[in-house]
Amino acid sequence: MDDSKKRLTPLSELGEFGLIDKLTSDIKLKNSSTLVGIGDDAAVIKSKKDLLTLVSKDLLLEGVHFDMMYAPLKHLGYKAAVVNFSDIVAMNGKPKQLLVGIGVGAKFSVEAIEEIYFGIKTACKIYGVDFIGGDTTASASGLVISATVIGEVEQDRIVYRKGASPNDLICVSGDLGGAYIGLLILEREKQAFKANPDLQPELSEHDYVLQRQLKPEARTDIVEILAKNKIIPTSMIDVSDGLASDVKHLCKASNTGCIISEEKIPIDQETYEMSKIFNLVPSVSALNGGEDYELLFTIKQSDYEKIKEIAEISVIGYMVDASEGERFITNDNITVDLEAQGWDALKRRQSEIPDNGS
Ligand code: ADP
Ligand code: MG
Repeated sequence: MDDSKKRLTPLSELGEFGLIDKLTSDIKLKNSSTLVGIGDDAAVIKSKKDLLTLVSKDLLLEGVHFDMMYAPLKHLGYKAAVVNFSDIVAMNGKPKQLLVGIGVGAKFSVEAIEEIYFGIKTACKIYGVDFIGGDTTASASGLVISATVIGEVEQDRIVYRKGASPNDLICVSGDLGGAYIGLLILEREKQAFKANPDLQPELSEHDYVLQRQLKPEARTDIVEILAKNKIIPTSMIDVSDGLASDVKHLCKASNTGCIISEEKIPIDQETYEMSKIFNLVPSVSALNGGEDYELLFTIKQSDYEKIKEIAEISVIGYMVDASEGERFITNDNITVDLEAQGWDALKRRQSEIPDNGS
């Protein structure tokens, strides 16, 4: 617990190459497509016939995407990797290789960076991804983590944001809104801590939503379930910005409208109860929260029989003609514009995120 008593190694003691070596010397390769990983000027990947290569990158900046005050470093590393894997999963693919660039300020210790790498390596292990390279540099403006993932998907199984048609069913995996509620709790505790540093954070009862925020998972399992049930979605995206925004991406790319039912949106009990405490309509947490990294996808109506018994997948609406717009049916059976409903409510709330308690 008490890190302050341990002597921390300043970065200058190791130098760039010493640091790279310390961070990467234990990395082992698992995937047959990875011919060469860390150590040469470039990693080498062998592409296979009938497989498409997927590439995606995410940039995380201290103060913009995370707050060092409440993001434990190993979780930060884990999340940096997993959000990238999620982008590959959203194409119906499998993540295979990862590269990570880090920019670190002089105030960081070697041990702190090792923590971040512990998280990255843990994610790679769990998801069967090879860590094949990166870059290391000093940063004058806080911590920067840039991760690039390479994945693969069979040519005939790739799913884009475009491809949905009117009448296709809109489905989502898992539950939504939890990551946002987790963030609100962390914000609240941070403000309380600033006001009174002797206060112990009250986090223990909120395990689920905190985990949703701090340690999200990519739904590789859903891609497998879909394959096993012989379903190829007509369009797909991962929910990083919130359901409202992401369903709009599908509609725009597919040139459709949509109808989403509030009562069908899957919301976990803890998310529901904490939304109430934060004075938020629970579905608004789901619509606008973001960072849930669930999969949002459309299927043909004829695939409904295949999907209806899968507990991890909910049907929340259907696509309509673009001319009908993007609509939201509330629990009171009132149909409103999807955008107006969500964003207004969130804007109102964000200006009054509680400072302490509720
Ligand atoms: P270059 O000068 O060509 O950029 P580097 O000395 O930066 O080479 O990198 C040497 C090897 O270490 C390369 O294989 C590179 O991918 C890897 N590497 C560098 N920094 C990192 C890092 N932060 N994480 C993982 N691998 C890294
Ligand atoms: Mg380099």
